[in-house]
Parts: sequence; structure tokens; C-alpha cells
Amino acid sequence: MIDKFVYHFTKDNEPARKVKIGDEVEFKTLDCFSNQITSEDQLIDSIDFDRVNPATGPVYVEGAEEGDVLVVDILDIEINDTGVASTMEGTGPLYNEGDDLRTKLIPIKDGNVIFNDIEFPANPMVGVIGVAPKEGKITNGFPGAHGGNMDCNKIVKNSRLYFPVSVAGALFQLGDLHASMGDGELSGVGLEIGGKVKVKFDLIKDFELNWPVLETEDMWYVIASDDNIETAIKHASKEMQALICNAYNWDMQDVYIYMSIRGSLEICQACKPSSFPVVIRSGIAKDNSKPALIR
Ligand code: CA
Ligand code: ZN
Repeated sequence: MIDKFVYHFTKDNEPARKVKIGDEVEFKTLDCFSNQITSEDQLIDSIDFDRVNPATGPVYVEGAEEGDVLVVDILDIEINDTGVASTMEGTGPLYNEGDDLRTKLIPIKDGNVIFNDIEFPANPMVGVIGVAPKEGKITNGFPGAHGGNMDCNKIVKNSRLYFPVSVAGALFQLGDLHASMGDGELSGVGLEIGGKVKVKFDLIKDFELNWPVLETEDMWYVIASDDNIETAIKHASKEMQALICNAYNWDMQDVYIYMSIRGSLEICQACKPSSFPVVIRSGIAKDNSKPALIR
């Protein structure tokens, strides 16, 4: 079990462990507040922000080199029995100056979230997941081409992710589990919770990929981000178009039309005004007569 925490994605992080392709690797994670919130009297602004968004790792994947794609299978996600959700200063479309900010501790029982006087099924997911960028240091709170804080509620048990590798060993890390999170994560906070994640790695050699890709049972998604929503949509759509052209052997205009009649453009995160970029996913249904988009 890996339980070493880091706060940035960078090639300078010391690997917590070296792993091989096919190894099952277990990560213990803290919630995105490093478990600092233990009472509803604590507002988010009161905690130590140097310890926000811890990720566990990184792991050095033997054989991974720049230009490869790291394949990550989410084998299992276990969550604790209480999570934290809140509103935050200056965050999200419904925030108004002077609002009474609020923290809620929310129990999860038998797979259900207990919220006020209702219950609904939990959807354990991974918020922060990715690999080191080629240069520099990206805080775990931010998304990008390396992955990071994508806050995509489809990153769940049995999903598979593909990341462009920029440094030797990839330096993979993850954290920020949510027991549940709505598309958009409006207030900037999901149902934040600690737990454990089990993953397995594979590598694809020399494949051009510019943004992370998510594969679910029936869909492919490119996940991209930017401060400007139109630019984020463009990044995600362009990458999806290139992947389909390449895999299906169709030209760009046909793929554009295909995406327009069959695609699905969805929002992972949209909690502006805040400093967090908007995260978009461009989806396309799997088609049984066609090959995988990445292989
Ligand atoms: Ca997050
Ligand atoms: Zn989170």
C-alpha cells in the first residue's frame, strides 16, 4: 500500500515505489483537505491550504518513456464512511458576495449517500489522477494535458485511462476521491472523502496523444481543460477528431460530421468564477465494428 503524499505533479517528485507493467498497485488517499475538516464548524477557508489536494505517489512505471501512453485500469475504489462537502469563497456560479459559507459532513451507509432527509447511491470516483509534466511543477488542484484535477465523475471502478507520458517512469499519482460529484462540481467541492484505490498499468509505445483519454464500458472520452470554456471544448474535440480519423480511417470532415451527429460533449468541472480551469470531455460511443481509438 502506497501512502506517501505529494502536492504537485513534477518530475522532481521522488518515486514512492517502482512498479512493473501488470502489477496491481494500491494507493491510500486522504480527502482533498488532507482530512483537516472534522467538524461542520470549520469553514474551508480556515484550513491550511498548503495541505490541500494531496495525491498519493508518485509511482515510477518501469519501461515508460516520453512519447508512450500509460494505460491505467481502475480495479477498485474503496471509500471511508464520512465525506465533506461545502461552499467556498468566490467559487461557482451560485456564489454571492457575503454568502453564509457552509461545511457539511455527510455519511455514506451501505453504498448510499445520506443527504438531509434523502438517500441516493454513492458513485466513488477519482478526482486527481495523472502523470508528471515534461517541465515545471503543476499543483494537484489544476488539470491539464498531464491529467491532474480533472474531476470527472466517470473515472470510477472498471474504467481505463490513457495518459501521454512526458518523463521516464511516467511518475503516476492519484488522490481526491469523491463519494459523489455532480457534473460541473458547481461549488468547487464534491463529496470529498479518503479511501483506497487499486490500479494496474500497461504501456503503449510511440502513440501520439495530447490529452488524457478515458474509456468506459461503452464510451470513449477525451478530457481537456482551459480557463476559457470555448478553448477547452476545442482542445477536447480536436483530439477526439484526430483519434477517430486515425482509428477509423475516415477524413477530418467525415469525422466532424460523425461527432456532430453521434458525439457527446459533457462538462466535468465548471466552478468559475474561481481560479480553476473549466474541464470538458468530448465523448463518442464505442462502435463494435471499429477498432479501439488507442491501441
Ligand atoms: Ca477535485
Ligand atoms: Zn475533490
